[in-house]
Amino acid sequence: MKNIYLFGAGITEGDASQQNVLGGKGANLAEMSNLNIPVPPGFTIPTHICNDFLKNKSLSNNIIKSIDVAIKKIENNVDKKFDCNTNPLLLSVRSGARISMPGMMETVLNIGLTDKTIPALINQTNNPKFVYDSYRRLLMMYSDVVMDKAENKNHVNIREKLEAILDKQKKLKKVYNDYELDVSDLKILISKFKKSIKRNLGKEFPDSAKEQIRGAIEAVFKSWNGKRAQQYRKIENIPDDWGTAVNIQCMVFGNLGKSSGTGVAFTRNPSTGENNLYGEWLNNAQGEDVVAGIRTPMPINDISKSDYSKNKKTLQNEFPQIYNELLNNKAILEKHYKEMQDVEFTIENGKLWMLQTRTGKRTGEAAIRIAIEMNKERFINQKQVIDRITPKNLDEIMHTKVDPIEEKNNKPIAVGLPASPGGASGRIVFNANDAEKWHKLRKKVILVRHETSPEDVQGMHVSEAIITAKGGMTSHAALVARGWGKPCIVGCSKLNIDLKNKFVIINNKKYKQGDWFTVNSSKGLIYDKKISLVKSNFFDNIYFKKLMDITDKIKKLKIRTNADNPKDANLSKKLGAEGIGLCRTEHMFFEKSRIRNVQKMILSNDSKSRKKAIMKLLPYQKNDFYKILKTMSPNPVTIRLLDPPLHEFLPSQKNQKLINSLANDMGVSNKVIVNRIIDLFEINPMLGHRGCRLSISFPEISEMQVEAILLASLKLLDEGYNPKPEIMIPLVSSVNEFKYQKELIKKIVNKIQKKHNAKVNYKIGTMIELPRACLTARDIAKEADFFSFGTNDLTQTTFGFSRDDIGSFIQNYFDNNIFKEDPFKTIDTKGVGQLIKLGVENGRSAKPNLKIGICGEHGGDPKSIKFCGEIDLNYVSCSPYRIPIARLSAAKNCIVEHKKK
Ligand code: PEP
Ligand code: MG
Repeated sequence: MKNIYLFGAGITEGDASQQNVLGGKGANLAEMSNLNIPVPPGFTIPTHICNDFLKNKSLSNNIIKSIDVAIKKIENNVDKKFDCNTNPLLLSVRSGARISMPGMMETVLNIGLTDKTIPALINQTNNPKFVYDSYRRLLMMYSDVVMDKAENKNHVNIREKLEAILDKQKKLKKVYNDYELDVSDLKILISKFKKSIKRNLGKEFPDSAKEQIRGAIEAVFKSWNGKRAQQYRKIENIPDDWGTAVNIQCMVFGNLGKSSGTGVAFTRNPSTGENNLYGEWLNNAQGEDVVAGIRTPMPINDISKSDYSKNKKTLQNEFPQIYNELLNNKAILEKHYKEMQDVEFTIENGKLWMLQTRTGKRTGEAAIRIAIEMNKERFINQKQVIDRITPKNLDEIMHTKVDPIEEKNNKPIAVGLPASPGGASGRIVFNANDAEKWHKLRKKVILVRHETSPEDVQGMHVSEAIITAKGGMTSHAALVARGWGKPCIVGCSKLNIDLKNKFVIINNKKYKQGDWFTVNSSKGLIYDKKISLVKSNFFDNIYFKKLMDITDKIKKLKIRTNADNPKDANLSKKLGAEGIGLCRTEHMFFEKSRIRNVQKMILSNDSKSRKKAIMKLLPYQKNDFYKILKTMSPNPVTIRLLDPPLHEFLPSQKNQKLINSLANDMGVSNKVIVNRIIDLFEINPMLGHRGCRLSISFPEISEMQVEAILLASLKLLDEGYNPKPEIMIPLVSSVNEFKYQKELIKKIVNKIQKKHNAKVNYKIGTMIELPRACLTARDIAKEADFFSFGTNDLTQTTFGFSRDDIGSFIQNYFDNNIFKEDPFKTIDTKGVGQLIKLGVENGRSAKPNLKIGICGEHGGDPKSIKFCGEIDLNYVSCSPYRIPIARLSAAKNCIVEHKKK
């Protein structure tokens, strides 16, 4: 592998396919250069050298020599000389990992400014203000990155100290912006900076161009192992051994005066996906000013304006030609990368240079719109659309928002830039540590900062939302929050934050740590109270609909839903459910008007009174089933016969009032009721008298339920519908249990069909949710029309973890790396998954076309859905709001299959 890869007009050696070697930034600089887009020439030191450096703790002589040779090549290319006292070349040094880690690693600009080169540059540019401005920036960046962070374990935080000097000078001169300082101010600053560096860091700022470049390269490598980069990698699952590349590039200057500037732009709106250049810029500034939020940037065009920035000057108006060039570059880059790009650019004396391009981070809403529109523009095909959209994107558009009706009745206390959309409520905290502490205490927090820095990532991650007083749409807070789909408002200048005493003053009102705020980050609005939140109205999103249509064209797995009332059935149909995979009938019995009869039924001592109580429920059940079957017709509805742990229905022995009234109603004494409760008491109800066991003891329940299903279906048939009930027997562990229940069901079915002289298209199948059912699935399949894996109970009974109690100790399993994932969320493929596989194989060995699905919570989990596809299930069933994710995941399964071929 090479030590150095050159890029720039006429000398480029790499390309975009070499991200692993050159890092994202280096590979894309090479690619832009190959596309004839103007990039300042430079070279990339590849990622493997970073790993060598971190291992050996120094750069090898070989590398140092290669760097010297590469600098010579840049010198020739631009006709300037590094470390030269007549025609000096200045360099930038930037990190660049394989995938973007916004702000996590280091950059040093203006390298090569020394006592020797400064007069030459002044001479050349005739612009001493620019040169001294560049030098004070170098002093700040270099001392911070190279001399402090890279060298000192306990940072002295030199940047803060130098910034305090800068602020003092600005106050003294009564100016607000850095660029309003004149040459004499800058000279004073430079002298003070140098003294402070010496005093605080114990050594002089190096007045040697060679030492500067070497120090900067090493510091960038070291930043790979900085605390914040490590934390970020952990959150984003980025391997530690990837390393970062370093890009050394000829400096171009946005701070040369009025005809210079710098900016960042997305080729499409990263919040909405709208196909328009969207970005920010600053006149007479260097790139760090935009990203670090030091000055609040201006909108690049009218479309990028917000209420907050509507009166600011746009690049489109100020530099129309440059703007058109940017538009042209947008077209070239999108056509080439077939992706939305996030670009950085600098205008140096009226010439546009592109400094970076990379795939832009975006919200879920934007991701979906961009993929659908790029498919329409024929950049990508439908399979690529599915490949690009993640379950997280969908989760995000179905995200919570502030309740619009309640919001109308409240007045925002402040407005900022809507950096990442959504809505959230939480108690305000003012630093990342407090955010983490409060989160551990299960409190919802909103992190309020002047601006965020990579040190804050952990605290940002646990917060419901982030608000910053400074910064723009591309500030650190905005980028990071958007990447996570977390609500975020930036540049909210009305916030007067006192970090030390933990309060913020807004419009003369003081808010202290712990006070409730709500944010509507889609509009940038902040409220000083808790406002209700509602799910988003993604139903009306046309791009979402198109995406869902594509999933249906590609996926094989059917998606059903778990629903037990007509409202959920309707909702799930709208979301694309192809049937109901689990209707939990016990949920229908909890209504006040019904539970009393269930209790009377359970507490009855003889079959006659039991039957009397249960038959009171028949009309209710018939009506329930009628509505659900009607909604789903002609799709199947799997109705599970009653399966509650008994204790959920039994009255408490202490509830004298209820016992009295039940006794009265049933014409027995209180004692009879209490004794019955004692008789039915279970030590471990989850493994007790539930599922088919209940129906074996109290067949009246199943008889009534089957009658209700049949009567509802017959009514629907009369009305011209096509109901397809699938009667499901729960918690079967032996084929004999199943056979016994099946007989009972068939008896009722036959009786009713005969009476009405009509036939219902029904099936009788079973839940497979006990290990023994998997092991004996061949026998069960001979009798059953279908299987549905109840992975909640199967996980419970395979691990021996109680579903109801695992919450109290599972965190210890995560903390000690015993579990990486919660087996109740994602199927444990090594254990539970093997039982499922066995169940499928056993079942299909008896009945090759046996219809098999899954209806545990795992049915809505993308990783589990992948597994279900691999073992050839016919469907997954999940809660209504998980359906879109399930459809996408099922389509992704087929893309993976397609990729494998
Ligand atoms: C299951 O056990 O996976 C299941 C779907 O049934 P329930 O959650 O109702 O026990
Ligand atoms: Mg179950």
